[in-house]
Amino acid sequence: METRRELSVLCSNFCGIFLGCILIIKPDKNWCICLVGFVGLQALILLLQYYLGSRSFILFQILPIKYNYHKRSDQDINRATDCVICMTAVDFSHPPNVCMVTPCDHFFHSECLRKWMDEKMDCPTCRHRLPPV
Ligand SMILES: [Zn+2]
Ligand SMILES: [Zn+2]
Repeated sequence: METRRELSVLCSNFCGIFLGCILIIKPDKNWCICLVGFVGLQALILLLQYYLGSRSFILFQILPIKYNYHKRSDQDINRATDCVICMTAVDFSHPPNVCMVTPCDHFFHSECLRKWMDEKMDCPTCRHRLPPV
């Protein structure tokens, strides 16, 4: 009971000090314009990143090379292989975004590999480190 009363006194003192500090500050039009401009600039940057992608503000020369998981050659279409995650055959006759190939040349269903990559970034077959999607 004693602790609860001390806590309420502490809270009321804190609120009093906090409100006192806010009430002492006089409104300044220039600071208000600067604050609105700063917040607006942040919102603009977030909107641009949303529409253009988060990598759009980084120079192309310093961007890491992005691996294409959907690249395929004509040789791959004739190949028969199973997805080791779901243990069913990977059908290469479907559109290219249905299956994914890792840098170590292992094939998986896109859905299976994406779920796998949410957990760990190693190849399910050979444990080779996978680059980010
Ligand atoms: Zn699969
Ligand atoms: Zn592999």
